[in-house]
Amino acid sequence: MNGYRCFACAETQAADFAGFLCPSCGGNLEITYDYAAAADKIEQSFRDDCNDIFHYAPLLPISKLDTPFPLRVGGTPLYAAPRLGKSLGLPNLYLKDDTLNPSASIKDRASAVAVRRAIDIGATVVSAASTGNAGSSLACLAAALGLRAYVFVPESAPAAKTHSVVVFRGPGLCGAGNLRRCLRLSASPPPMNSAGSIAAPVTTLLPGKARRPVPTRSGRLWTAESRTGSWYRRGTAICSVASGKAGAICAPLRLIDRVPKIDCAQSEASAAICRTARRLRDSRGSEVDWSKVVIDEVKATTVADSISVGRPRDGLAAVQAILHSDGEAVTVPDEEILAAIPDMARSTGVFAEPAAAAPWAAVKQMVRDDRIKADELVVCIVSGSGLKDVAKARAVAGKPLVIDPSIDAVRDALARNDAIQR
Ligand SMILES: [Zn+2]
Repeated sequence: MNGYRCFACAETQAADFAGFLCPSCGGNLEITYDYAAAADKIEQSFRDDCNDIFHYAPLLPISKLDTPFPLRVGGTPLYAAPRLGKSLGLPNLYLKDDTLNPSASIKDRASAVAVRRAIDIGATVVSAASTGNAGSSLACLAAALGLRAYVFVPESAPAAKTHSVVVFRGPGLCGAGNLRRCLRLSASPPPMNSAGSIAAPVTTLLPGKARRPVPTRSGRLWTAESRTGSWYRRGTAICSVASGKAGAICAPLRLIDRVPKIDCAQSEASAAICRTARRLRDSRGSEVDWSKVVIDEVKATTVADSISVGRPRDGLAAVQAILHSDGEAVTVPDEEILAAIPDMARSTGVFAEPAAAAPWAAVKQMVRDDRIKADELVVCIVSGSGLKDVAKARAVAGKPLVIDPSIDAVRDALARNDAIQR
């Protein structure tokens, strides 16, 4: 890597820059690479001894790779989903199942790089604010590496997310009002700073989520916008940003033919990024001056907690990923997001939390609107497990039939159930 560049004002910093934000404007930073120098040799430098994200170590801001990572992060399956695809006439539909990461979330990709980075610089403490998944993930991977984690999660987070933080790190700092207050807390100099803490910069995290986005000539990557990677005052549109970054890295390195379209799926009840992307696209007549772009602020009320945020801290990067890849910004009603959960589960065996089902709801809408062609290759990223938020799935999937333990009762119940389903 060369160094860092500000998403807003484009000011650059050297690779040894120790801060987390642009010193000039306070914007988020992204990693930059010397693509021309690396293109011919990068693929050979990938680590064949790893089948996880550390296979891509040469692209990551980490150095001490002499010990294997204790958990498998990344390298998750890319499933063909022919039956789900057939329901919409899409023969080339795939699911990237990131629920199979250690904490059942895509956030493990970022956390793995953060904890490796922490070890690189001699830190013993990591901290994050999160709606749930990122906090649970950081607590999980910090536990695996023997680091101390301080995690701030809103009280409204689903119980499985907050409880898993406690399981991984023990009781302590966990619930703390709403996300905005959590972000402030995680950004404050903590008392344990003297122990050498790292509030992981999202800039160093983005390539951690980079994976080869599917070798395709006309690919379309579907991502759920998610703000949950709130590292050191950064709410992130994590999937859009990560997928965009993956494409932006892999294409100039000639690892893929071109950057796939990065589409962003959001709930109508929390659509800051989609609104901003549409506004900029509509007003495009000249180049966008990113230093003047402010992400729209909305009142976020969606049931998909992982993507419920008024103004994502890393929204600018998400909007850039959409516009630079010629992707689309799609909003769907909460009812369709919830309906997508059993829809996916019953055709693929993959159980998504609401935010992770949003891409499939968006695909359905775009097929209805004739915005996806039948021969397109479509990948939905399933960013988090439905087991983290069973209550939302239960509300839409129906209740179990409770019967007497007799075969007659089974026959009666099945007959009644068949009648209902007809
Ligand atoms: Zn800046």
